[in-house]
Amino acid sequence: MITCSVCGHLNSPERVTCEECGSDLSDSSDWDDEYLFEDD
Ligand SMILES: [Zn+2]
Repeated sequence: MITCSVCGHLNSPERVTCEECGSDLSDSSDWDDEYLFEDD
């Protein structure tokens, strides 16, 4: 689950925007870091 950094709503991992407020979920650095390491 992805927690919206704006409203705190829990969204499904496949969601790109928050179900509740429409905020961009890819903005969250929670798993951005993992992507960088995976590329190594
Ligand atoms: Zn939200």
